[in-house]
Formats: sequence, structure tokens, C-alpha cells
Amino acid sequence: MRVCPKCGYTESPIWRNRMAKRMYVQFCRLDELETWEPELAEKLKVEKYVFLDGVKYRLTPRGYVERIDAFLCKHPDPRNKSLSEPTQEKHLAKLIGQPLNQTKLLEVS
Ligand SMILES: [Zn+2]
Repeated sequence: MRVCPKCGYTESPIWRNRMAKRMYVQFCRLDELETWEPELAEKLKVEKYVFLDGVKYRLTPRGYVERIDAFLCKHPDPRNKSLSEPTQEKHLAKLIGQPLNQTKLLEVS
């Protein structure tokens, strides 16, 4: 849960971090968002992708909502619906010494 140090605004507690190999993308379930942020949930159900207050949101086919701060994104442009992170694959590929263009990455721990 994130709190603004300036005004004390506290966001809803539903957003979680544990997506494998992603540093900045957070997610919650659609039903959680419906409870905590109903307007955003309704918009996502119709449009599947929403840009709001500097954050990109995407509804996945499995009923999860992912989000990322646009400025942390590989493609920060709000019109670009990608939630990819900048160097995640390059970084991992470097760690395991594999070519950068390989599509499937090995687990690193
Ligand atoms: Zn604030």
C-alpha cells in the first residue's frame, strides 16, 4: 500500500507486488477493484485498458487487473497499452549470460 508523503493520501490496499520477474507491475483481482475503486473497475470492464493519473491499468482475460506507473514503463506514452518494464529481459539475460534475443529465459535465483 502506498501513501503520499505530502498529503497523506492512502491508496487502496489491494495492490500486490508478487509477479515473477517484474519489479514495478502490481496486480489485484477484478472483484477487489470493484469493491475499492468501482469507477475504475467499470471503466476497465468496458475498455480493458485505462490511463489514469499517470498510471496504466489493464484488465487481463483471467480477471486480474495489472498496473504500472507510466514513467517506469518501457513505453511511457499513455496511448501505448504495453505494461512492459524497460530492461527486465535484458537484465535477466545478462545475469545468466545468454543472448539477448532468446525468447525463453532460464530461472535465476
Ligand atoms: Zn499527495
